[in-house]
Amino acid sequence: MKRYLTFAIMCALVSCGKPAGDQNPFFSEWDTPFGTPPFDEIEVHHFKPAFEQGMLLQRAEIDSITTNPEPPSFDNVILAYDRSGRLYGTVGRVFSTLTSADTNDELEAIKAEMSPLQSAHSDAIALDSLLFEKVRTVYDGRYRAGMNAAQLRLTERVYKRFVRSGALLSETEKQELRLINEQLSSLSVRFDANNREAVNSYELVIPQRDGTDLPTNVVSRAKVRAEELGHRDSLVFTLSKPSWIPFLTYSGNERHRRAIYEAYLGQCAEGGSQDNTQIINDIVRLRTRKAHLLGYKTFADFVLDERMAKTPGRVYEFLDDLWEPSLAKATEERDALLQLKRSETNDSTAVLHSWDWWYYAEKERQQRYNFDEEQARPYFALENVRTGIFTLCNRLYGITFRPIKAPVYHKDVVTYEVLDTDNRHLGVIYMDFFPRAGKGAGAWCSSLRSQGYDAQGAKIHPITTITCNFTEPVDNTPSLLTLDETETFFHEFGHAIHNLFADVPYEGLLGVERDFVELPSQIMENWAFQPALLAEYALHYRSGDVIPESTLQRMRQSAMFNQGFMTTELLAASLSDMDIHSMREYQPFNVAEFEKDALTTRRGLIPEIEPRYHYPYFSHIFDGGYAAGYYSYIWAEVLDKDAFEAFVESGDIFNRRVANDFRFKVLAPRGIRDGMDLFRDFRGSEPSREALLKGRGLLPPEPAEYSGFIVAPVPDGPVPSPPDSVLRQILGEGPLVQ
Ligand SMILES: [Zn+2]
Repeated sequence: MKRYLTFAIMCALVSCGKPAGDQNPFFSEWDTPFGTPPFDEIEVHHFKPAFEQGMLLQRAEIDSITTNPEPPSFDNVILAYDRSGRLYGTVGRVFSTLTSADTNDELEAIKAEMSPLQSAHSDAIALDSLLFEKVRTVYDGRYRAGMNAAQLRLTERVYKRFVRSGALLSETEKQELRLINEQLSSLSVRFDANNREAVNSYELVIPQRDGTDLPTNVVSRAKVRAEELGHRDSLVFTLSKPSWIPFLTYSGNERHRRAIYEAYLGQCAEGGSQDNTQIINDIVRLRTRKAHLLGYKTFADFVLDERMAKTPGRVYEFLDDLWEPSLAKATEERDALLQLKRSETNDSTAVLHSWDWWYYAEKERQQRYNFDEEQARPYFALENVRTGIFTLCNRLYGITFRPIKAPVYHKDVVTYEVLDTDNRHLGVIYMDFFPRAGKGAGAWCSSLRSQGYDAQGAKIHPITTITCNFTEPVDNTPSLLTLDETETFFHEFGHAIHNLFADVPYEGLLGVERDFVELPSQIMENWAFQPALLAEYALHYRSGDVIPESTLQRMRQSAMFNQGFMTTELLAASLSDMDIHSMREYQPFNVAEFEKDALTTRRGLIPEIEPRYHYPYFSHIFDGGYAAGYYSYIWAEVLDKDAFEAFVESGDIFNRRVANDFRFKVLAPRGIRDGMDLFRDFRGSEPSREALLKGRGLLPPEPAEYSGFIVAPVPDGPVPSPPDSVLRQILGEGPLVQ
């Protein structure tokens, strides 16, 4: 747990001649519950020296590998390398937790300052030829060295990582790659800063009388926001999702809808004050060059070489297969909404616009199914949903959750100890639910400490965090979640469970393919709205009554509604991500035109639907490690729907035996084997797309016959950028962030 820090750091402090009384908490043992970070003691000025010390230490550890006179072996090269950089990793995890969930100008300044240094540090290790020679010697002799499967796997992974980081390049090429990585790292920081600035600088201020068609909780929040900003008798809406989506869904004022949606779509676009288009050009140019240097045709080829999908061809084949039925369905939906708008406005020539879609879709949903999501909300109080998730985890895996008092970085954060079936400590989970200035948009799961084993063989227990931007409590009303938010909570909890169940002998085996990583999260969504679970947690926050069967019935019926739209906007973003990373030769390009050509001209995207993200604010792919990887969400949906079928087929969706299998065959082994091998082990075969198509209503039989109740998953918002560490990758491109 906390032991691993002490010895190495004390040595380093002595060797660096630092005063023994240094108060930097990163340089001493943490006397906190379960070794959680002492957030109450960590101050902004501690980070820089801690990062510097962490890098220095890791450098020293690497040097002791390269200068070791003993013949290279698994233990003195691969294992020593795997164990290096513990302090550096710890500082990075704490730091990225803060910069993503509770940042400020000072932290951002440190991030901008450290980012190129971290890149340079990672590169110096990745391109250290003495180290690579040792790694190569162990790799070449791996079959003769009597390694076990995990050692063999780790050796191969480490070797490949070096090669992918440029270890086989000439000195000149290595120099160029270093420069590229540093530039890329700075560019992604600038991309992110622009993005935040754009979100923070926009507000739609409307008079309170214009908000009469909005649900009361939406109005309450908008009022609070207006008061904070000093606007009297007004409502304020912003570009954060919990603000603009309800506004677009319920506001009957087309002019206002258009204003906020155009502001959203136009974030960081060309010509604005946070223009990201040149940054995107630079990123694509550098990524393409990087791919060429490393021997790949395109950046997508480079990325996918390490994914389940393996090649861009397979990804395109997968996405193209889904594109046509989704677009056809979306076009049908569009026609119905257009008719509705014409009849509602008494204007037979009215045109449906993208800013109309949410509004008329909601009207149509209410007319067709008499289901207003707002009616369901009182049954999804945050506390109750949390109980539902704890109950589910308990029924599936026998684990329990105990609130603990650990230091937190913000008063809203709550912490729990997670106990295994036999009441043994499994790990700690932090939960941080509500939006605030300084928190990135969306929802994510990350790690404050990853699972491992120390040099004495004692298990290091994981500390994981989930961070969301859920509807806040207002006045006397607790936080009442939308169905999307409820599902997001289940989703992020799935990632957390994946972290908590991890049991691998070496840290370098924690990483799973990025197109696998959404399986553990998305499978959890399948339980969110199962009647058997709802009966236990979906209780009215005032009366305590269980959600009525009639509401459930309508929820179920309306679940397939709007799936054409939801699938199409998701596929559109997945395709535009693939396209921009599939350039063989970089030529300066106009970002908006490139996207239009890819989606509208070549694939026939209808103008009423915008891709889920436009490039200038598509932080997943320019700032969050999802480059050529956004398809992973829908790819993983094939896996999760098929895996959930195992529970359905058993006749009991809480089947303990199947859950145990899932835990020990899929979750716990993490990167010990390829994702597809783990999946096959669990399911007995590769996944079939049928469950996904059925789940999204894109394939007969009729949705009503389908036993599962499934709402389309909502991919997380921007993924916080991890500290750049080419070597300590946990998830493909970035450590510890999902
Ligand atoms: Zn996720």
